[in-house]
Order: sequence, then structure tokens, then C-alpha cells
Amino acid sequence: MLRLPRFKYLRPKHAREAAGMAAELGARAMFVAGGTDLFPKLKRRQFEVDTLIGLDFLSRSIHNGGAECFVDAGVTLASAAADPHLMRGFRGYAEAAGLVSSPPLRNAGTAGGNLCVDTRCNYYDMTYEWRKAAGFCLKKDGDICLVAPSSPRCWAVSSSDTAPMAIALDGVVTLVGTDGERELPVARLYRDDGIDYMAKQPSEVVTGLRLRAEPGTTSAYVKLRRRGSIDFPIAGAAVTMRLEGELIARCRVVLSAVASHPLEASAAEAFLKGKRPEADAFHEAAEIAARPAKPLDNADLSHFWRKRMVRVVVEQALQLASTRAGGSAVKLSGHT
Ligand SMILES: Cc1cc2nc3c(=O)[nH]c(=O)nc-3n(C[C@H](O)[C@H](O)[C@H](O)COP(=O)(O)OP(=O)(O)OC[C@H]3O[C@@H](n4cnc5c(N)ncnc54)[C@H](O)[C@@H]3O)c2cc1C
Ligand code: SF4
Repeated sequence: MLRLPRFKYLRPKHAREAAGMAAELGARAMFVAGGTDLFPKLKRRQFEVDTLIGLDFLSRSIHNGGAECFVDAGVTLASAAADPHLMRGFRGYAEAAGLVSSPPLRNAGTAGGNLCVDTRCNYYDMTYEWRKAAGFCLKKDGDICLVAPSSPRCWAVSSSDTAPMAIALDGVVTLVGTDGERELPVARLYRDDGIDYMAKQPSEVVTGLRLRAEPGTTSAYVKLRRRGSIDFPIAGAAVTMRLEGELIARCRVVLSAVASHPLEASAAEAFLKGKRPEADAFHEAAEIAARPAKPLDNADLSHFWRKRMVRVVVEQALQLASTRAGGSAVKLSGHT
């Protein structure tokens, strides 16, 4: 049985205090919210810290502000998935939260933790003994990428379900650091780097997420994974759509699990603007969206198949968002 290492647990009363502790302790400490990702990784010695800074002071409310919705970072994924405001105006976010892992983990895992969750790789999410036998890798304890040995960088995969949806919903996070509070669009919260994957300061605490949607915007999240529960995404599509009359006025498409950061499919968004929400347009847009997705052989199932399935999940998410926008309920076109 894998055991947690010994660690000191600090219990700050507010975010500023937590940020101060993190700034002082540096790489020796990490924040812990629900612990659903952190604790298994501590057991596998993927993180080696001697102190955890508890974030149980984080608020746990969801406030509806009409075209905006404020989700406190301490809200559990289970609460977000069942929240009536989110279900009504920001359904794709509730959907993404409800598709994370399994019910017990959604009861503990938080909205803030899901945005900050570590990138994943088959060569890294293993026990210490397994990684030692394999020779370790760049992301932890080694000096070579085992997936792409000639690459100078790590290609671990961004695997948060809610992050792409938060980007598609023009989300903005509130960050509290030692110097005070600031806002940052979720689209700028990530780096295309499997190791240094977050653009915020390590000592900054995510305290909330503000989602925004113009009236009439609909959203949908479609996730592909091996089993119907527990598994991380191996491809996912977050879509928002707003129609004006019979035409698409705005559409955002953000992919999960195909890069080290949530990948916005800007070319597909531009292609759909002004088009009728119809099956042929969605099929072509999904082809365009899938082009920049370059899954590597470091997640579940074959990466060739995953690449082909990106098109399918995008097409499904576009059709779902369109149906919710009042577009005709087009049946899946069967292009697989
Ligand atoms: C078996 C299994 C299956 C899983 N499946 C999925 C899945 O399908 N989809 C998915 O998205 N995730 C999945 N997860 C990962 C995890 O359960 C979720 O991402 C969860 O939302 C993490 O939230 P948490 O509050 O538990 O974060 P924690 O585990 O407490 O923390 C995760 C990371 O975020 C940091 N952190 C947490 N909160 C904050 C904050 N407010 N400010 C700054 N940093 C913070 C921590 O320091 C840590 O680095 C799975 C995990 C397991 C073990
Ligand atoms: S992508 Fe390469 S460096 Fe990154 S975790 Fe996987 S094997 Fe390690």
C-alpha cells in the first residue's frame, strides 16, 4: 500500500495569509484544497514537499449575476454540477464539473483545484518504483522526455475538464498573492509547457472564477474517456455558441487533453461565424478544430485514435450547443 509522506499542515485563515506562507516556503510547500489530485501524487512521490497549506477557508458559494456567474474556488465539483444557476445559464460548465472523475472525488474536489490540476503523462503518473525502473523523466527526477526523447520540453497533457469550458465561457479568475488581488482571464492562466503549466505565480491562490455569457449563449462539454466514470479525459471539447437570427454570431471551441494547455480552436471559431448551424458546417468546423491537436503516446488508448476522435467530440459538442440554442436537433452525421 502506498502511504502519504510525513508533512506539516498549515491552516491560514485567508488567502493573503496563505499566499504569504507559500511565498516564504517556496518549493517546500504546496496548497491543498480537496486533495483529490494532490494526495495520490504525494503517495507516488511525484511531489516532494514537507508542508501543505490548507485552503479550507475558501468560500463555497455560487452567485448568479445575470450574464455572469461567480463560482468561489472552494465550491465542490458536485455542487457546481447540480447548481441551478449554472445549469440554466452556464450549462457546459456544470456538465464539465459533473464529468470529472467519480462522485466521491467530485464531493471533495473543488472548482479552484480543478483549474490548477497537474498535467498528466503515462510515464509520470506512476509510483516512484515504476518511474525509477523506467529511468525517470524531465518532469520529475530525470533529464529526458521518455515520450519524445529528442525533445527539450515536457509534453504532459492538460487534463482538467472545467478549464477549457471556463475559457470558452470567457472565464476570469481572481488571484490573491502577497501584493494583493488581481484578475486574469482563464485563457491566460496556462502555459504550453507540461512542467511549468500555470502562468500565475506559484504563491497566488485562486479564490474565484467569474463566468460570462452574452444573453442567448449556450454551451456544451463532450468528454471522451475509456470508462463512463473515474477516468480523465483523453479528448474533450468545450463549446459556446450564440445565434443571431438563423446564423452563428459567436462560437468558441476549446479542446481538452490534446496539449499541455487547453487548446483554443480559433480557426474553427472563425469558420463558423456567420454560418447556419447545420450538420455540414459542424462537420467541417470539427475537421478544422482537430488539425492543431497533436496527442502523443502518453495517455490512455492509441494516440492515432485519439487524434481521430477529437473531430468527433468537437462535432458532438457543436451539435449539442446548437440544439440548446434552439437550432434544429441535428442527428450525429455518422462521420467518424
Ligand atoms: C482517479 C482520479 C480520477 C480523476 N479524474 C479526473 C477527471 O476526469 N477530470 C479532471 O479534471 N480531474 C480528474 N482528477 C483530478 C482531481 O480529482 C480533480 O482535478 C479535482 O478537481 C482537483 O481538485 P482538488 O480540490 O481536489 O485539488 P487538490 O488535489 O487539492 O489540488 C490540485 C492542485 O491544485 C493546487 N490548488 C488547489 N486549489 C488551489 C487554489 N484555490 N489556488 C491555487 N492552487 C490550488 C494544488 O496545490 C495542487 O497543485 C482525477 C483524480 C483522480 C485521483
Ligand atoms: S511528456 Fe516526457 S517529460 Fe513530460 S511527463 Fe511525460 S515522459 Fe516525462
